[in-house]
Amino acid sequence: MTGDRVALVSGGSRGIGRACVRKLALDGFDVTFSYRSDAEAASSLEKELAELGVRASAVRVDVADHAAVTEWVQRTEKEFGPIRTAVTSAGITADAPLVTMAHEKWNDVLRTNLDGVFHVCKAVAFPMMKRKSGSITAISSVSGVYGNAGQTNYSAAKAGIIGFIKALAKEFGRAGVRANVVAPGLIETAMTDVLPDQARKKMLDQIALRRMGTADEVADLVAFLGSDRAAYITGSVVEIHGGFGT
Ligand code: NDP
Repeated sequence: MTGDRVALVSGGSRGIGRACVRKLALDGFDVTFSYRSDAEAASSLEKELAELGVRASAVRVDVADHAAVTEWVQRTEKEFGPIRTAVTSAGITADAPLVTMAHEKWNDVLRTNLDGVFHVCKAVAFPMMKRKSGSITAISSVSGVYGNAGQTNYSAAKAGIIGFIKALAKEFGRAGVRANVVAPGLIETAMTDVLPDQARKKMLDQIALRRMGTADEVADLVAFLGSDRAAYITGSVVEIHGGFGT
């Protein structure tokens, strides 16, 4: 059986992506989501959704692998039906000051965070354009908007996503397909769990609301941007950071 409300989320097994998968499922979507290595996290979410009666599939796909992403998208369209909304959340950090940054850290971060978005968007774009409907929401970061010391690789990748999505929104607009960026600030996930206390405190001091955001708060925004309620929003970068830098 195929549905007409199908969502695809890259990096959906943990953190912000996981919250997006849950939110989209609660909004009535069948959901396919990818992960790279943590099969346990992926299958626990798949199980949780099945218990709620939601059609869901967790697929091990490295977003840096173009062929694997294309195959995932094609299989989803065949088995689940047309993808109505796609979210790119797969991302990693590998921080270092520029002077000591190994090429490997640069390449890994660019491949996952930026090439990964290119691969997902390239695969979902053509079918969406043919159907003249669909939306894409890419997760960037405040690091891509403002830059962050120690994260030249990550900031470059996240800024790259912004340029990419703005261009893509212009290419897609005529076909009625929308593409937007969500740029979160400091959000409570495994990615930020590793921050040393001092760095966390310093960052919290720069946030007007004096707290970290939650993955659910980001997911609410992502779900809104992907829905028809955001029908006139495309090519936008929406920041969600509790007043970062104010
Ligand atoms: P987490 O580390 O909690 O989760 C990352 C998710 O991405 C996991 O599901 C992981 O799967 C998946 N993933 C990582 N690499 C790949 C890959 N190569 N292919 C497929 N899946 C992959 O991160 P967050 O939820 O915190 O971050 C989600 C997104 O939000 C990222 O793009 C991040 O850069 C961005 N962001 C996060 C912020 C924060 O404060 N947390 C702030 C701003 C932006 P697995 O576990 O199997 O590896």
